[in-house]
Amino acid sequence: MKGKNRLGETKAYSPQYTEKKPFFSEKEIIFRSAGRAKVFTISSRLQVIMLTILCLIGAWSFYSYHMYSKSGKIITHKDQELVETRDAYVDLMSDFVAIQKNIDEVLSSIEKSGSKNKKNLDKYKRQAMVVEDKIKQITADKDWADDKKINEKMSINEALLQRDIAVSERDALREQLAELEDAVKEIKEAEMEVFSRVEALALKEVKKIKSAFSSINVSLKRQGLYYNPLAGSKKRESSGGPFIPESVSKLGDKKINDKISSIYKTADDLEYYREVVQTVPLGKPVWSYWVTSRFGTRTDPFNKKKAGHKGIDLASRTGNKIQVKAKGRVIKVEHSNKGYGNNVIVDHGNGFKTRYAHMHKIYVKKGDYLKINDTIGEVGNTGRSTGPHLHYEVLYQGRPVDPMPFMQAKI
Ligand SMILES: [Zn+2]
Repeated sequence: MKGKNRLGETKAYSPQYTEKKPFFSEKEIIFRSAGRAKVFTISSRLQVIMLTILCLIGAWSFYSYHMYSKSGKIITHKDQELVETRDAYVDLMSDFVAIQKNIDEVLSSIEKSGSKNKKNLDKYKRQAMVVEDKIKQITADKDWADDKKINEKMSINEALLQRDIAVSERDALREQLAELEDAVKEIKEAEMEVFSRVEALALKEVKKIKSAFSSINVSLKRQGLYYNPLAGSKKRESSGGPFIPESVSKLGDKKINDKISSIYKTADDLEYYREVVQTVPLGKPVWSYWVTSRFGTRTDPFNKKKAGHKGIDLASRTGNKIQVKAKGRVIKVEHSNKGYGNNVIVDHGNGFKTRYAHMHKIYVKKGDYLKINDTIGEVGNTGRSTGPHLHYEVLYQGRPVDPMPFMQAKI
């Protein structure tokens, strides 16, 4: 609408081009219709208000669009995070199951071996069950199937709401995860304690057996002999060492893995020593006795001459039971009125044999296999004997040795 005014009766419009106008200077809008014209004046104040409103609308549209796309991203991210958190949760659960299995295995193996510390073991078992219950509580009422909702098309409000729900679900899950981690930590600690105690018990038993062997060796050495309890272990070691269950290696915890390896080694040692100790005649072959003649040089009760005594004389009542203190096989059964009288020789393997003489009754026959503590007969007064007693001999590598340290060894 430049310059010229063709309609004389309306106001003249004469803008001043040369002058610099302020941005929100007063503006006029002219409407023409049927030869008449109308002029609307827009004040600078109104212009500012209109521009502000326009800007607000623009900003709102931008914000809405931004929030919509952002919430979408958050949901995708949240979804991924949930998956990761759930994975971690499942990992922990499998850790837990593995630990539980370990504890069960160790406890049942210890139980099977007939430990005297059943009371303690029951206590650990209860501890383990308490932790297990806690984990069950945490994992109860878990509903994972929520993914459909996330994939549904949502309005912006729904999306924003969903985002909040997602965040709170994630937070709740994280909290539960932390709780579960605590529980797993707790059970790991309980497990370490169980293992430590169980290992200590096993070590104590191994030590006891070893010290019994060294006490008999003190006596054997005087005769230039030595019993090596590890003699039979070489074959065993070459067959692959201690058994470690697969569930153990799944655990990432080095401290626990090391402990488990060490406890399985100790358990393996214990098993070995328990087997070996059954083949060495340690303990007393009769319950009630008194020693009337020791091993070694003595005055013969018949001819009063000095003579070597190959065993120990244990005076006891006729009919008292005689037990073998190691497993073995009966290699000789003799019924006689002379010398040893009715007597039995048992071979225990490992170079050890035992002889039982002057027996009243014999319950076994040659070739019988005997378990530790089997009864082989009764105390008597047969053969060259001055009263009811058991003449007891321990032979190692064919030579009679002093039975006393064997009888006194505490297992
Ligand atoms: Zn004798």
